[in-house]
Amino acid sequence: MYQSFIGLEIHIHLLTRTKVFCGCRSAFGDEPNTNVCPVCMGYPGVLPSLNIEAMRMGCLVARALNCRIPEKTWFERKQYFYPDMPKNYQISQFASPLGQDGRVELEGRIGGREIVKQVRIKECHLEEDAGKMIHTGAASLLDYNRAGVSLLEIVTEPDMETGEEAELFIQQLRRVVRYLGVCDGNMEEGSLRADANVSINLPGRGLGKKVEIKNLNSSRFVRLALNYEIKRQGEFLDAGKTVVQETRLWNENRDQTETMRQKENAQDYRYFPEPDIPVFRPDEGFLRSVDAALVELPLPRARRFEREFGLSREQAELICEEKEGADYFEEALRLSAAQGLDPNGAAARIANRILQDLKRVLNKGGLGLAGIGGLNFGPARLASLVGLEETGLVSAKIAKQTLEAAVAEDRDPQAVVRDRGWEILSDPAKIAEAVQAVEAQEGAALAEAREAAAGGNGKRRGTLAAFLVGKVLEQTGGRADPKIAGAQIAALIDS
Ligand code: ADP
Ligand code: ZN
Ligand code: MG
Repeated sequence: MYQSFIGLEIHIHLLTRTKVFCGCRSAFGDEPNTNVCPVCMGYPGVLPSLNIEAMRMGCLVARALNCRIPEKTWFERKQYFYPDMPKNYQISQFASPLGQDGRVELEGRIGGREIVKQVRIKECHLEEDAGKMIHTGAASLLDYNRAGVSLLEIVTEPDMETGEEAELFIQQLRRVVRYLGVCDGNMEEGSLRADANVSINLPGRGLGKKVEIKNLNSSRFVRLALNYEIKRQGEFLDAGKTVVQETRLWNENRDQTETMRQKENAQDYRYFPEPDIPVFRPDEGFLRSVDAALVELPLPRARRFEREFGLSREQAELICEEKEGADYFEEALRLSAAQGLDPNGAAARIANRILQDLKRVLNKGGLGLAGIGGLNFGPARLASLVGLEETGLVSAKIAKQTLEAAVAEDRDPQAVVRDRGWEILSDPAKIAEAVQAVEAQEGAALAEAREAAAGGNGKRRGTLAAFLVGKVLEQTGGRADPKIAGAQIAALIDS
């Protein structure tokens, strides 16, 4: 068996309003070549100037990945020719990346097994994206809207071992950058793309000859491509051959990696310091503004939700998947506590309503949990609903129904319940009326329940009793207090 080494290079588009070295709009999907100017078109003699927001967002990610931000950080020109990059060099960072020597705790489940593993972050650096080439057969078209868009590259050390770990890393990073509000994490649109590096070797021999798989635009492809490549390289070594150091691509139609280019030695980009952008020295004010934007991250937040609110691990992780979901949860809980409700009981109910009912509403609208803030059913309305439930004013079933009506009518749940007369029915005489009706309709079931009771078949008796209570609830439109209905049905069977 071989040991495998995986390192990732992940590019994220930063959500700056404008590009990294000019004032052009940074937007996806606009009319081609409308967000351009002489700077991002690479005209001679123009002056780039650094977008401080891009630097701030980059440093924020660096902080979240426990990187060191150096005292000074600057840019280099990375020279190469490609038509999507009109200057013939990319402004990037080489010798002084804005984030250095970080680490993250990779944490999650792989195939039912819990894993916790540290992945070192080599660096984070800021650079500009290139334009987009659209190949049409006879010729290629160029759209420079993306040229100069702020790109942050995050480079890990080769600390992962399987495609599954790499997939988990990307999913975890994606959640982090979305929490920080610096990237939308949309892999299909290319806002987050990964290059995956992998080598294998005999145990104890250290790193092997690395193969780089470029431009993976889904975390699933990262997993598939890496596992394919680990197997392919293993077969090579088994056959006594050596792996060629090369760049490959994932062919999603054939489920295999294929050679893109072979480079014996590293390409020489002739990096040299960009003379037109001054060295950046983060001062105290800048660093303070970065720290101020550093929010509690998804994993620690989920662990806190487990600990503080008694949620299950799965519930906590699902709620914390998106910051909007976690914020909504905490706000609803705060408002429930303000009503004097028991926080633990309320927490469980709030979590269930979010993960079941509100998720269903969101899905219907084609939205995920991230869209929860835009619902007409805000945290105050959920707290109001939970209050009705916790104080026994409505049953769980009616609560569900109330939520749906409140969303459909854009009204507070209390008003819905009041107007519809959906409060729980706890008048024993009223419930007795319903029990009588059930007695008349379900004579056979009642007789069987009595027989089972007399014969000592408690299980059968219980099943039939539950059935009859269900009928009583039905009779009252779900409003009868199930405890009172249950006691009356029990008395009827045992009479
Ligand atoms: P290069 O100089 O080819 O760009 P870097 O040292 O910058 O290589 O590393 C690029 C990525 O490749 C990093 O994510 C790193 O962890 C990974 N990497 C480097 N060497 C290996 C190796 N032998 N096996 C697997 N991954 C590697
Ligand atoms: Zn521009
Ligand atoms: Mg490199």
